[in-house]
Amino acid sequence: MPTMNKLCADVAAAVRANADALTELDRAIGDGDHGANLRRGFDAVAALGAELDAMPPGQALQKAGMTLVMKVGGASGPLYGSLLMGIGKSLAGAANPAPAGGTPSPSEIAEALRAGIDMVRQRGKSDAGDKTMLDVLIPVCEALDEGVSQSLPIPRLLDELGAAAARGLESTRALRARKGRASFLGERSIGHLDPGAGSGRIIIDALCASLRGTS
Ligand code: ADP
Ligand code: MG
Repeated sequence: MPTMNKLCADVAAAVRANADALTELDRAIGDGDHGANLRRGFDAVAALGAELDAMPPGQALQKAGMTLVMKVGGASGPLYGSLLMGIGKSLAGAANPAPAGGTPSPSEIAEALRAGIDMVRQRGKSDAGDKTMLDVLIPVCEALDEGVSQSLPIPRLLDELGAAAARGLESTRALRARKGRASFLGERSIGHLDPGAGSGRIIIDALCASLRGTS
């Protein structure tokens, strides 16, 4: 299992590498700042560095979430921040929370992701089908639940998460945006991928690659 510091560094590197593509998606149906917003946010999380490894995973993720809320001006900062804070709070509140350097169990991670997504739903007053990051996060969470209940081997489970993220992103193309700036376009948002779903897929893929040890 990579350290928390390494996971965050790998996500930040993937966001940086894909920032221009995310900005392109946001230029089509938003205001063209999504890549820059997330790059600023995840660079700040990665800059926490070894400080993250000194904390239990639950606390480290809450700290990372607060950093995103503070550093990112756009809608996506508070939303991704809520996601990480919700995940972190759930992990920290587990019956036997993993200590610094420890790894929560797959079922604890599945439960935590559900809690994080609920925080995004509440903060964003949004849900599946609104053409947002949730259209990637919710299918990934469902795939994780399913994989954990079937006790899939970790490499297979990671494949399923990647496939769910890819399908979720693609599903946003046909949707009409009901939340965020893209909703101002109404029908004209149809036919474009959602930028936040795009970053969701990039983040999930980066985490999976990091967990496989291939990055
Ligand atoms: P802004 O829209 O303020 O410029 P960003 O461009 O960084 O912020 O992020 C836009 C993304 O945020 C959207 O593509 C969408 O996925 C996500 N988003 C916006 N509003 C909501 C919401 N209410 N609930 C969930 N996600 C949202
Ligand atoms: Mg934007």
